[in-house]
Amino acid sequence: MEARMPAQVIPTIENFNDFVEKMTKLGFRVISGTEFKREARRLELRAPRPVEGRETGLSYYANRILVVVWTTWMAEGQTIKKKDSGWVVVKQDYDKKPVYIDGPFHRTENFLLTLYQNAWLAHFRATNRPLCSKCRQFLRIRRGKYFKSRFWSCGCINYHDDKKPFHLDWDYGLPERAKIFLRRKRKTSAKWLEKIRELGREPYSAIKKRKPWVVGRPENLP
Ligand SMILES: [Zn+2]
Repeated sequence: MEARMPAQVIPTIENFNDFVEKMTKLGFRVISGTEFKREARRLELRAPRPVEGRETGLSYYANRILVVVWTTWMAEGQTIKKKDSGWVVVKQDYDKKPVYIDGPFHRTENFLLTLYQNAWLAHFRATNRPLCSKCRQFLRIRRGKYFKSRFWSCGCINYHDDKKPFHLDWDYGLPERAKIFLRRKRKTSAKWLEKIRELGREPYSAIKKRKPWVVGRPENLP
């Protein structure tokens, strides 16, 4: 049995512009070339792999959560990078490392729609970042038992009358249609995971292999 990849479907410039327009309506903005270069210079960033061209990324920031969506789309060539996949990366507070990475999203049929839907989820969670009901501080995203599972948590037990942490479900507050979307997505992932294990391959290798850019000047990080 082979786990075969569905065929690649390259989005057109119109598809991509529609995607950017929808993302902009949510509050995302395209990371500009100047901004990218300034950040690269300030932190002496070095790419972990040969760079084919600058990829379009969009960012959204709310309640000290930063969501960055990587599209693999290159504005210069008006097409997608040869390799790579789309990603949704979430950072919180002033943590240097992402706390949650969703993807890879393959450039197959409905790639931009899938990327939008998953960006929407991260956007919703950032916009509606819940507060601790015991001490009113922002809850933090914490890693759960499984590779991709997360939950909301506050461990400031000294501020809690009962001296116990407070947690909320990762899907807390999500509208019903988002929960339906997630149920379907998780079912598909569970099936995929089962298949990967049957084939004796390591799951989530793309995320595990995904190397961040090297920060030459970490003292300049916020
Ligand atoms: Zn608390």
